[in-house]
Amino acid sequence: MTHVFSIPLRTTFRGITVREGMLIRGAVGWGEWSPFLEYDSEVAAPWLQCALEAAAGDWPTPLRDTVPVNVTVPACSPEQAHEIVRAGGCTTAKVKVAERGGRTLADDIARVEAVRDALGAGGLIRVDANGGWDLDEATRAIGLLDRAAGGLEYVEQPCESVEELAAVRRVVDVRIAADESIRRAADPYRVRDLAAADIAVLKVQPLGGVRACLRIAEDIGMPVVVSSAVESSIGIAAGVALAAALPSLEHACGLATVQLLSDDVAISPLLPVDGMLAVRPVEVDDAAVARVSASPARRAHWESRLRAVRQDLGL
Ligand SMILES: [Mg+2]
Repeated sequence: MTHVFSIPLRTTFRGITVREGMLIRGAVGWGEWSPFLEYDSEVAAPWLQCALEAAAGDWPTPLRDTVPVNVTVPACSPEQAHEIVRAGGCTTAKVKVAERGGRTLADDIARVEAVRDALGAGGLIRVDANGGWDLDEATRAIGLLDRAAGGLEYVEQPCESVEELAAVRRVVDVRIAADESIRRAADPYRVRDLAAADIAVLKVQPLGGVRACLRIAEDIGMPVVVSSAVESSIGIAAGVALAAALPSLEHACGLATVQLLSDDVAISPLLPVDGMLAVRPVEVDDAAVARVSASPARRAHWESRLRAVRQDLGL
């Protein structure tokens, strides 16, 4: 049994305004398969393996009851940033910086200062440049933002390429996290081999599921931050399952993204309480599924996409 959902986002993300995906029922529960629309069958295949693992109930035993998460601050004004952090209830904030179109480094610095003010001295601030700087820009900006923050936890994806991440890492004191550089299962090993990051951001769907990510985390021997691909609560539950099963979890995760969607498919959505997500089963709500159900045309599109990927995987 499957459902296809289509949920408007509260704000644009990756240039999309609606999040589409498929819920797949297995022997034990539901899995979410929501590769982005432009992905071909080959790229979408590990995303399906993640959904099938969830639907089969094949997750490792959790080692913790709650998972700390960060609040995300978009490239907004200092006043808005302050408000978002205060309302978020998290002790770690991820601040978007280096955004193209209007915002300057001075704006980024002012935003980070506002976030420090809102968090207080005990909170942690990480910045995410989404690959927006070149090497020189990164070197200069990271120094200034580190000072504005009173110390950064880390900088996520300062530049686009793995080679540039490695170069930045050699010249700055702040730790570097690789996010966009990790899109496929082989990528974390490349990041490790080039000494390009101190921290790996892992997403369960693109990397083939919870167990696959656990193996990667073990192999690469660097701290992991589990992040979402902006899934519904069913998909987020897989990220939580990974974060809960990691032998060590040193950093807050980027899993507090259900609120980016205007609706959800779960009876009790996976939203943070006091900066924590509970490690618990998530049940599909039939009424919610009906509410966010995609059009027949979109449903047909997803069904044919599923057939193609299943065929590729020999399923
Ligand atoms: Mg990122």
